[in-house]
Amino acid sequence: MNVAAILAAKGRDVATIPPHRTLREAAQMLGERRIGAVVVTGASNEVLGILSERDIVRAVGLTGATCLDDSVSRHMTAKVVTCSEAMDLNDLMEAMTAGRFRHMPVVEDGRLGGIISIGDVVKHRVAVIEADARAMRDYIAMA
Ligand code: AMP
Repeated sequence: MNVAAILAAKGRDVATIPPHRTLREAAQMLGERRIGAVVVTGASNEVLGILSERDIVRAVGLTGATCLDDSVSRHMTAKVVTCSEAMDLNDLMEAMTAGRFRHMPVVEDGRLGGIISIGDVVKHRVAVIEADARAMRDYIAMA
């Protein structure tokens, strides 16, 4: 199973934000869309960084609520690990575990084409396991 299988089910929509926007605006976006991270993009939609709820919590913990007026670029992670659609889900989970993050933008030919969260992978895994169990039960019932 690869990244493309998850994108086929969840779609390719990615929440993005320009780097000069504030942490407050990013937090609003995360809350409204009920997501955990936004991809920071430039004028040509190129990936400049990623900002997750953890970055906002860390900033608030360090400096208090005044950081909400800081720019996104000040608190984002600029060195983003991305994946391709062909990436195997086991390798994806390994990379997320090793990097200690829960989001992976999908970049194909330099273009942002989706995002996978650890929640997407778990949901997909559970669906596959349930389908296998159902098939096994049906097979046994027929015997
Ligand atoms: P998360 O677990 O995704 O909420 O993110 C934890 C930390 O890792 C935050 O500092 C994020 O900015 C950073 N982060 C999240 N996703 C990635 C990624 N794909 N590549 C690099 N850093 C990331």
